[in-house]
Amino acid sequence: MALRNCANCGKLFNAPTATMKLCMECEREDQKQFDQVKEYIKEHPTATVIEITKETGVERKRLYEWVRSGRLDVAGVKDLGLRCEGCGEAITNGRFCAQCAARLQDDAKRLLGGQKPQSRPGAGGKAGFHVADSIVRRRRRH
Ligand SMILES: [Zn+2]
Ligand SMILES: [Zn+2]
Repeated sequence: MALRNCANCGKLFNAPTATMKLCMECEREDQKQFDQVKEYIKEHPTATVIEITKETGVERKRLYEWVRSGRLDVAGVKDLGLRCEGCGEAITNGRFCAQCAARLQDDAKRLLGGQKPQSRPGAGGKAGFHVADSIVRRRRRH
């Protein structure tokens, strides 16, 4: 047990766990709002974010927090208003769209792997052949 200020209302409260950021009342309120939104999306899978916030009274900001943290699944919601941090495309979860996520992964791989430049066939190939040819001839002579 530790005394802590609620992240929402600022009230001093007894936190039973280190991860608890909200007082009991706010925690309960947060859970209630979350359930409301979840229930609404279940009943209206193609609702817009404006409809959701209007019908449930939940702030858009809070909605985004749930989505970004992966707590809320809004795959069917149209025009959520979430944008990819890479290209600005509309997305329904996380921070990046699929393309940007893949590109970032590629970039990370390239940086970590230190990819070597590929040898180009054709360039210097003839010279190589001549060298090999002369070596063979020299060997035959001996
Ligand atoms: Zn509170
Ligand atoms: Zn993107």
